[in-house]
Amino acid sequence: MKITQVEAIYLRLPDVKNQCDSGQDALIVKVHTDAGITGIGEVDSNPLAVKGAIDAPYSHSISTGLGQLVTGEDPFETERIWCKMYDRAIYGGRFGAVFHAMSGIDMALWDIKGKALGMPVWKLLGGGFHKKIRCYASSLFGETPKKTRDIARRRVDDGFTAVKFGWHPMGQDEKTDIALVREARKGLGSEVDLLIDAGLVWDAKTAIQRARAFADYNIFWLEEPLRPDDYDGYRKLSEATHVRIAAGEEESGRATFLQLMDRGRPDVVQVDLTRCGGFTEAMKIASLAHDRGLPVANHGFTTYINVMAALHWLNSVPNALICEFVAEDETNLREALTKQRLRAKDGYLAIPEEPGLGIELNEDAVSRYRVA
Ligand code: MG
Repeated sequence: MKITQVEAIYLRLPDVKNQCDSGQDALIVKVHTDAGITGIGEVDSNPLAVKGAIDAPYSHSISTGLGQLVTGEDPFETERIWCKMYDRAIYGGRFGAVFHAMSGIDMALWDIKGKALGMPVWKLLGGGFHKKIRCYASSLFGETPKKTRDIARRRVDDGFTAVKFGWHPMGQDEKTDIALVREARKGLGSEVDLLIDAGLVWDAKTAIQRARAFADYNIFWLEEPLRPDDYDGYRKLSEATHVRIAAGEEESGRATFLQLMDRGRPDVVQVDLTRCGGFTEAMKIASLAHDRGLPVANHGFTTYINVMAALHWLNSVPNALICEFVAEDETNLREALTKQRLRAKDGYLAIPEEPGLGIELNEDAVSRYRVA
């Protein structure tokens, strides 16, 4: 089998608001083959930079468009193709958007392999640890502490046993920060795990103070309280609190994850399959984390393609902790984009059994929302 074409497809709702959002746009990758099998992948990054990285023509020997590099290759040779992409695009691709683009292509290649063999990706990765995996409902904080409490109640009513709130308005002042966590805990009651995603808002000393204050509300983890490059701050924070510190969604691949793990010493390593280098790299990152006694979780705040990829990966590593599952209220691109719409049952997601990723695009939605 040979790869015949790589398509980077940018989808966007007609009315995109200037706000943190999980489903206003999406960058989808399609890898076509001469066997008639098409694999799909996703990249959560700067969409047009990713499209540029894939569509770019040859510039010189270590700055080449990824689509051109991959065309003509055998999609089963994922390790070799990964190394070829990394080596031949290394000027732009050690980390950041070009590296992210590699993730979507790698994901699509594993989808092709699974479809060709009639097996789910997790089986090709040697997995099979779970039949279902615990997930947490992931959403943004409400505009106020009280609105956050109301959202928390709804998530419990939906059957979730773990709920995360993140980003704005966390980080404005101590009183609001603590009120947000207090009201979230009130809404959840004492039995449901509460996860807090600070959203890169503090320095290390402030984060230590907040971790101590939030410990009164028994939080499951405190995620990304610091700027991602502040690895030394992460280390100070981790050493100063018994609250689990989670980070990793800004990292690109092994090289930066090693910085995070060995300098920052977080307690949970978060890996986004659409940015970390795809399945090929995510397996290695999980292994590096496992060697250090660290559990891994996925990061995914975009489409169900990302969630499905995460389920295959989490089912293939021994140190999977929990799965992020977007639970925003509004109907957006995510609900339209794929034929399958994932739903959690009693706080768990079922491990996919269909060949490949086990998720298909709704081509009507692709046509409707495609802008580039
Ligand atoms: Mg986060």
